[in-house]
Amino acid sequence: MKPSSIAVCEHCDAVHRRVHLAPRARAHCIRCGTVLYTERRRHLDGWLALTIASAIAYLVANLNPIVEIQLRGESTQASLFQALSATWYSGAEPVAALAALCAFVFPLVRIGLETVVLAYLQLGRRPPALRAAMHTLVHIRPWSMVEVFMLGVVVALVKLGGETTVIPGPGLAGFAVLTVLLTILASFDPDTLWENAERATP
Ligand SMILES: [Zn+2]
Repeated sequence: MKPSSIAVCEHCDAVHRRVHLAPRARAHCIRCGTVLYTERRRHLDGWLALTIASAIAYLVANLNPIVEIQLRGESTQASLFQALSATWYSGAEPVAALAALCAFVFPLVRIGLETVVLAYLQLGRRPPALRAAMHTLVHIRPWSMVEVFMLGVVVALVKLGGETTVIPGPGLAGFAVLTVLLTILASFDPDTLWENAERATP
């Protein structure tokens, strides 16, 4: 029996075989009545909505300036891409590459894969190349570190603020929203995708 096909009661440790439930139905422990699990398919709606919102926040974050710096009457705007290329050409190529992967590439792959897999499951279809997609997702999730990037930007802005006029741009708001959304998304269990895919038609 696969681990996903049994349910253990949190309260009294009674072991149950999982059964398919109607939407929004709950399974209760036969011994003590504690809720064991709910039909998780309904969570996919909210999950998909959050990934689509993340994709929009990602675009806002990356297509707009993060910051505008005013110094002696001159003003400069910088987006994440401009900041990364400036870091690269200043000779810190490894730093630029690592930042690009963790703040740019990995979140993009993660949001894209989750959106596609969830959209298929929402339609009751089994996503193509599901195994490869899930494998990539599990490995990429810990490396998508928008929150670390966000913290770095805030520290840099506070330091710069002493010497120059720093105006946060729309890109920074995009990253703030993206950080919150990705943190919520991290609470969703990838096993739920497998369970739904097993029931979906190929
Ligand atoms: Zn129980």
